[in-house]
Amino acid sequence: MRTKQQNADYQREYYRRNKARLCARTKMRRARNAEPYRERLRAWRAANPDKARYYYAKYKRARGREIRQKIRLKAAAVRAEMMAAYGGRCECCGEQNPGFLTIEHKRRDGSAHRRRLGGPDKILADLKRRGWPKDDYALMCMNCNWGRRRTGICPHERGWSFRLVGGCKR
Ligand SMILES: [Zn+2]
Ligand SMILES: [Zn+2]
Repeated sequence: MRTKQQNADYQREYYRRNKARLCARTKMRRARNAEPYRERLRAWRAANPDKARYYYAKYKRARGREIRQKIRLKAAAVRAEMMAAYGGRCECCGEQNPGFLTIEHKRRDGSAHRRRLGGPDKILADLKRRGWPKDDYALMCMNCNWGRRRTGICPHERGWSFRLVGGCKR
């Protein structure tokens, strides 16, 4: 007869030797039926906020680079989707270089939108959730976006004189 201690040792050793296989099995089980696991995890997190924070910090320390990479890739994918949804070019001047393009808030409520949601990634997520609405948003280059920030009229439309005559006063 094995003692309790021997049993525990045996189990620990067994787990150590078969860790990869056992983890893969658990992972597969969870993937097949993810929602209850997620629900349980959520409940546990809500009941143990300190531990949850601790474990997440540990996880982040160990896998931080991987997580950041994932977030970056996802953000880039959403941005590409946004570009395609809004026509891929500045609505005012036709600039197509994605590095210059941004979302223009036609109703001039960009800062409120940002404040409400908390960041540019959140804005894109919000627009995506709403099916890329076109009425109040458009794709514009930074130049046209910046140029319209006070009057809502791009210098492209106002013409050159604006810069010379009243540009700095308004
Ligand atoms: Zn433009
Ligand atoms: Zn313009």
